[in-house]
Amino acid sequence: MEVAIFSSTPYERQYLEEANKAENHMLKYVDVSLDTSTVELAAGHGAVCVFVNDKADAEVLEALHKGGTRLVALRCTGFNNVDIEAAARLGIKVVRVVNYSPNSVAEHAVALLLAINRKVHRAYNRTRDSNFSLDGLIGFDLCGKTVAVVGTGKIGCVFARIMIGFGCRVIGYDPFPSPQFEALGVRYAAPGEIGEKADIISLHCPLTPQTHHIINSQTLQRAKPGALLVNTSRGGLVDTEAVIEALKSGRLGGLAIDVYEQEASLFFRDLSSEIITDDIFQRLVSFPNVIVTGHQAYLTREALTTICETTLRSVTAFEANQPLENEVKVG
Ligand code: NAD
Repeated sequence: MEVAIFSSTPYERQYLEEANKAENHMLKYVDVSLDTSTVELAAGHGAVCVFVNDKADAEVLEALHKGGTRLVALRCTGFNNVDIEAAARLGIKVVRVVNYSPNSVAEHAVALLLAINRKVHRAYNRTRDSNFSLDGLIGFDLCGKTVAVVGTGKIGCVFARIMIGFGCRVIGYDPFPSPQFEALGVRYAAPGEIGEKADIISLHCPLTPQTHHIINSQTLQRAKPGALLVNTSRGGLVDTEAVIEALKSGRLGGLAIDVYEQEASLFFRDLSSEIITDDIFQRLVSFPNVIVTGHQAYLTREALTTICETTLRSVTAFEANQPLENEVKVG
């Protein structure tokens, strides 16, 4: 099948080519993201393969449909960037990659937490400049601290397990409690208790209308002073301007993020010679107690292999009119 792969990067191509040895599709790599201005590049391709910042809204889906596309294959878990109802209306199937190494994202969340707490980013810069002063580098022991896991699905459970290994007290919040989380010997807590008790809050829920800005000025006002916030899930979970105010007042002790609400105009490209016009982002990175990585939490060899194999297997199943294991359906 002809597959147009949007937002493709050289490092992914290697994994896609390897996975395609078993599937034999015709892959066309497009290095721009999908939106109304680029959708015509998909014309004549039965399937498009998209990533987190490609935009498949109703308008784009209609254009895809006109061009003959009948399958949108997300090579990620979250599908907030695809209008699922519009796709269903047009008869376009949508598949995603449900279960690729939750360890990759959970371990990156831990890396961010350790770095922001122990100021590794600042120490790295100092020692490269022969500055061995320790002023301002005091962190705290994670052992004995309370960690709130918001979203206790696959990634949240792995993150919780690692935090238990550090000797942390783990509490969770999820409207759909999972036995796997409770089997770790930890418990669920109400949002109020999370605000009151959590020294660390780590977000692992999907971005939906219900979770949009789940971290906002009200929730931040209730946060324990000095709490650390880690977000490896989706930028839209956090009201960035409210977080900036909480960092300025010291209510929030640190922020470590792999995702940012307006990341589509920044991430996955080299802008080091350009002027960044996003003033909110620039304010964010000016804080000494903020670390940003550019949506790389999933970026391990194991995860890339599984993502590419699963995606192309879904295309094969679609072409053969077989049931789609990873289909995203309305509702
Ligand atoms: P999952 O579906 O296994 O778990 C998500 C959990 O969030 C579920 O238990 C669900 O009940 C819960 N949830 C839903 N609404 C909630 C709410 N209002 N409050 C709290 N919890 C809620 O998904 P997963 O595989 O663990 O992935 C979680 C998220 O991580 C994805 O949706 C995606 O946005 C993000 N992600 C990020 C990267 C990255 O590279 N940064 C990679 C993969 C996934």
